[in-house]
Formats: sequence, C-alpha cells, structure tokens
Amino acid sequence: MSTDRRSFLKLGLAAPVGMKLAMAAADAHAATLLPDQQSTASNGIRKVPYKRIATEEAWAPQEMFDEYRRLLKSGAKLDPGFVASWDTLTKGPDNILVQRLLDIGERRLREMDASGIDVQVMSLTSPGVQVFDAATANSIAALSNDKLAEAIRRHPTRFTGLAAVAPQDPKTAAKEMERGIKKLGLKGVIINSHTQGEYLDDPKFWEILEAAEALNAPIYIHPQSPSPDMLQPYLRRGLERAILGFAAEVSLHVVALMKSGAFDRFPKLKIVIGHGGEGIPYMLYRIDYMYVHGKGMQPGKTLKRPSDYMRQNIYITTSGLPWAPAITMAQSVLGMDRVLYAMDYPYQYVPEEVTMTDDFPISDEDKKKLFQTNAETVFGL
Ligand code: MN
Repeated sequence: MSTDRRSFLKLGLAAPVGMKLAMAAADAHAATLLPDQQSTASNGIRKVPYKRIATEEAWAPQEMFDEYRRLLKSGAKLDPGFVASWDTLTKGPDNILVQRLLDIGERRLREMDASGIDVQVMSLTSPGVQVFDAATANSIAALSNDKLAEAIRRHPTRFTGLAAVAPQDPKTAAKEMERGIKKLGLKGVIINSHTQGEYLDDPKFWEILEAAEALNAPIYIHPQSPSPDMLQPYLRRGLERAILGFAAEVSLHVVALMKSGAFDRFPKLKIVIGHGGEGIPYMLYRIDYMYVHGKGMQPGKTLKRPSDYMRQNIYITTSGLPWAPAITMAQSVLGMDRVLYAMDYPYQYVPEEVTMTDDFPISDEDKKKLFQTNAETVFGL
C-alpha cells in the first residue's frame, strides 16, 4: 500500500472528497484481488479497549465441497449462479480460498490474531446446503453443525457460530435449528438467501421464522448470486457476485419479507444482513415513500413502514464495507445498537480494513457497541 493511501486511511472522513473516492477505488481493488494476493501479515493492528467480534465469517466442511463437486460433475441442470461460483472446485487443487474455508482450527486462529479479531461468528459459506435435494441438504446441514460445534468446543473463547438449516424442508429445518441452538450451543441461523429461486416471504417457509422467533435466534440472510429469474443480466456481465448481484438479491429478500407481513406475524423475529445493509439504509426514505404511494404496493397491508421494520427487526453488519461514510450513515438512520462489525473472512481478508474501522469518527463508546456489545446482545454471546 502506498504511503499516500495509508495516510488517508488514517485521516478517514477528514480526507477531501476526491481522495475519499480514490480510497474507495483502492478498497474496491483490494477486495477484488485473488485471496492469495491479499495481505495475511500483521500490519500493526493496535490494542483497543473493546473486543473485536467478527460476525459474518465463512467456513465449509470438506463433505459439502465433495457434494458440490459431485453435483457440478453430474450433468444435472443446475442454478447457473451456483455453477459460476463454485466450478473452480472441479478444476484443479483447492485454491487458498477453499483452504481457508476448510480450516476451523490453527490457520484461522493465526489469521484472526494477525488481523486483531478476538472472536469469529462462523457460518456455512454460501450457498450452503440450499442447492441440494432436501435429503442431502438435511444431512450436510446436521453434519456441518456438529463439526462447527466441535471446533467451538475446542476454542470456546475464539469461535462461535450459526446453525445451517435446509429451507427445502421447513419442518426439519425448524428442528435442526432447535438442535443447533439448544443442544450444540449455536447462536442463530444462516440462510444463504434464495433457496432454488424461492424466498422466505413465501408462507411455506414460515415454520422456520416461527421457530427462530420462539428460540430468539437471529437469522443471518447472507447473499448468494441472484435467483435464476433475475440472474442473467448480471451473469452475462460478470456482476452476479459481491460487486452488485449480492446486494440486489438480499435487498429484494428483505423488502419482500417486510411486504409479506412476516414481521407483523413474527414481531420479535431478528434478521441480520451484511454489507452495510445491502443498500437499504441509503434508500430507506424512498423505500418508505414508495411503500405507501408506489404503484403495485398495497397501502395498509402491513402494520408498519419499512423503516420501522429496519429499526425493530433488522440488524446490519459492516462485512466487506469498512467505509466510514456508508457505515456512519447507516448508524445515523438505524441507530447505534443495530450495526455490528464483520470482516467477511476469508472472502475479504484484508487486515488493514480492521484499522480503518477502528478509525471511524465515532465515540469510543459507540466503537465498543459496533465491535463488541451489539454482537453480544444480538447473538446472546
Ligand atoms: Mn460473506
């Protein structure tokens, strides 16, 4: 990193607008580097008066990748978004990204130390078990939860995690959620957005929402590539993943949940979304306005406005967005208690981004909320 950029990273919001844009471009560049080009070295991570709890940190068991390989080689008709994400698994030895996902032991701990992360909240990487038939999905979800719980038992002060479930089979998903939380000590649920083109606003999935509310278990809706019906224009341009498609996919999912009345039916349901809220906080005034006045909407159908659900049911994390203008904006719109720190290891493992977040122009008390106490509250750590 150049000295210029480093000095402006230190300045944060104080940098002039032009330089901030340059920083943003540099950050975008850093995020697109192949994982083995990203820094893994300690780069002067400082001691801070709070724990850094990272809340959207991915992992995967070998068995899931074996099933992905089997699917990809099967000749079956597959979601092209899934194929584009994981076909590298069939093309040679595991790359460093796959190696990092598989490690829930020493390597991960070393890289947490090198980046100043005290605790990782781990979740099954996207799209998890949601591409499988129901039987395979149930079995890989249970196996994943057992393995994750075992890693957490080995390193209870460093690791915690979310249960994987198979929305393809809502009844079993609700049971596995309960097992994961009550028996295995997991702290919530990961759902990697659409399940074979279907979203949680469909009442056929509401058994899952009901169980999550009853268990006080937050559901982290993590992105995957847009569902098949909206995928093609993104895929043709190579924009289906984190650069653009992910935010389109999850923002659709969350606003669809609002519109469905799910939060009226399950008023204590907690949903967590990453990446600064996938654009929703920035757009919230207009989403509210059009929710009431827009064509195709049904005024009065739900009890509250999107901004109410955002402040009562939704938490957002900073995953992949260690950028003060976006995150302080979201904090001002949603409140300091609704924004949690996340790194997005190993997809955006850039240790200097931790320091960028330490340097946000907010009070020490609010930094402690961002990095530590909000995660403790939401996930019951
Ligand atoms: Mn992620």
